[in-house]
Amino acid sequence: MGMLDNKVAFITGAASGIGASTARRFAQEGARVVLADVQPEEGERVRAEIEAAGGSALYVECDVSDAEAVRRAIDQAVTAYGQLDIVFANAGINGVWAPIDELQPEEWDRTQATNLRSTYLTVHYAVPHLKRAGGGSILITSSVNGTRTFSSAGASAYSASKAGQVAFMKMIALELGRHHIRCNAVCPGLIHTQISQRTEQRGTDKIGIKVELPLGNPALNEGEGEPVDVADTCVFLASDLGRHVSGVEIYVDGGASLL
Ligand code: NAD
Repeated sequence: MGMLDNKVAFITGAASGIGASTARRFAQEGARVVLADVQPEEGERVRAEIEAAGGSALYVECDVSDAEAVRRAIDQAVTAYGQLDIVFANAGINGVWAPIDELQPEEWDRTQATNLRSTYLTVHYAVPHLKRAGGGSILITSSVNGTRTFSSAGASAYSASKAGQVAFMKMIALELGRHHIRCNAVCPGLIHTQISQRTEQRGTDKIGIKVELPLGNPALNEGEGEPVDVADTCVFLASDLGRHVSGVEIYVDGGASLL
């Protein structure tokens, strides 16, 4: 018996990092998972791993900033599995980190489109299916950077998109509660994934919250957590364990937000 038996989960950014780890954990708990991303090779690898472990998964190509692509991907998920119960808007980029007078309008727009517009699009196209299912759980990956700065000078576009996700999540939680749809955000601290390598930095300090975490743990690599630390929190929020939790952001950061 898994905690997500008979559930179908749609996860964006599922080819890598936090999304891939959450897809594996959801599948271990019995969910059928739809992996949406723009990395077909990596996505198919995650799908194959999940199926080799006895789970059920589908990869769909989907640029989350493109309305038509998101609509199509959610349709594919529902066509394949007949329902939708859990939606995880997780795909995101750090984008360009640069001093504000050097950050270009198109760089700002790309970060908002990939992180914030995508969250709206994913929720917008998924909600009719959640209503039809009689309820559901929406999860959003924000960041400690949505409310804190740490040492991340230059991350203005990223931080604005992550703060926007939290505000959006709270309003959606308020709006959708009467449909038995819960909505929550996870706010990771530094997590060991590919995202830093995919960041363009100009004239700013190297990314990293190089601090000794309150939750001191020698296994943590310079303050980094692991994707599964976030994935386990998502299992709680997506499953019946979190049935009375809606409208909150949960920090998964080893206590970094205390500093
Ligand atoms: P990652 O780069 O390993 O994974 C991100 C995934 O999103 C990739 O598979 C990528 O292909 C996908 N993606 C990017 N743009 C996309 C698009 N337009 N359409 C579809 N998919 C797209 O990074 P991660 O750390 O696992 O990031 C996941 C989320 O976690 C992001 O929203 C990120 O902002 C957030 N986050 C990460 C950290 C961290 O330290 N790793 C900290 C706080 C928040």
